Amino acid sequence: MSVDSAVERALRLQVIDWVNQRAEENGGFLRREELLNFTVGGQKLPVIDYSRGIRNPADFASTLSIVSTVNGPYDDLESEDGLIHYAYRAGDPDGGDNRKLRNAYVTRDPIIFFRKEVANVYTPVAPAFVVGDDPSARTFLIAFDEALTLIPDPASMSNAQKEYAMRLARQRLHQPAFRTRIMVAYSSRCAVCQLKYSALLDAAHILPDSDERGVPTTDNGMALCKIHHVAYDREMLGITPDYVVKVSPQVLQDSDGPMLTHGLQEMHDRKLVVPKRAADRPNRDYLAERFEGFARAS
Ligand SMILES: [Zn+2]
Repeated sequence: MSVDSAVERALRLQVIDWVNQRAEENGGFLRREELLNFTVGGQKLPVIDYSRGIRNPADFASTLSIVSTVNGPYDDLESEDGLIHYAYRAGDPDGGDNRKLRNAYVTRDPIIFFRKEVANVYTPVAPAFVVGDDPSARTFLIAFDEALTLIPDPASMSNAQKEYAMRLARQRLHQPAFRTRIMVAYSSRCAVCQLKYSALLDAAHILPDSDERGVPTTDNGMALCKIHHVAYDREMLGITPDYVVKVSPQVLQDSDGPMLTHGLQEMHDRKLVVPKRAADRPNRDYLAERFEGFARAS
């Protein structure tokens, strides 16, 4: 039996709000366990499927969520239109899973798109929208903004529209996914001071986004608290290629309250706390390049 469509929509929006709120509290992602155990009004409503990459609650007319399992930061970057090209589920193109995702396209019901790169860790983009259905390619097109539902033919967008969609994908999918990778690698702690409050942590780039080598891989990032992130970018604090924190002579000589003393000056000569996995640790060449800038400024 189906729930009333207004009820379904209200539930859907409630789930989306919860997902976004939990992701924010967690530092950008949710864990499998909490997604499976979500309840609303005392009733269990798993937000993802136990075993499949699509969640179609039995009494929902449209899909609630889809999961894209990727093997690295570039896995879904190859799309040149900023949209996710989501393959039909195997079997009957008009069968249950495909039918419910198609219904989300027809009704423009918002869905949740999860990017899963690390086991049990899901980075959400919500709401997301199914904006196209291409039976010949057996794919649905997924976009990250409601505005893209207004484009008559998303399969053949103008260059300006593609640029817009690409920018959205960067902001709403690729940057959050980078943040998740960094937070997981650093166990959500600042690499300089070990502060553990996700809300106060950033995924800092070593080589900036604007640099063509400024790739969104973990070896080009560090989890830094807000203070240490800005201090690093303003060259008040440097990190040597050997993972030692240096504080600029100007800052070391200054005197002020406890934040300066404990938060900055005492970090001088501390060892950076890096991820366990060697491949996740900061690239020493990138650090050396940034450290040259710091040494020049000091
Ligand atoms: Zn810090």
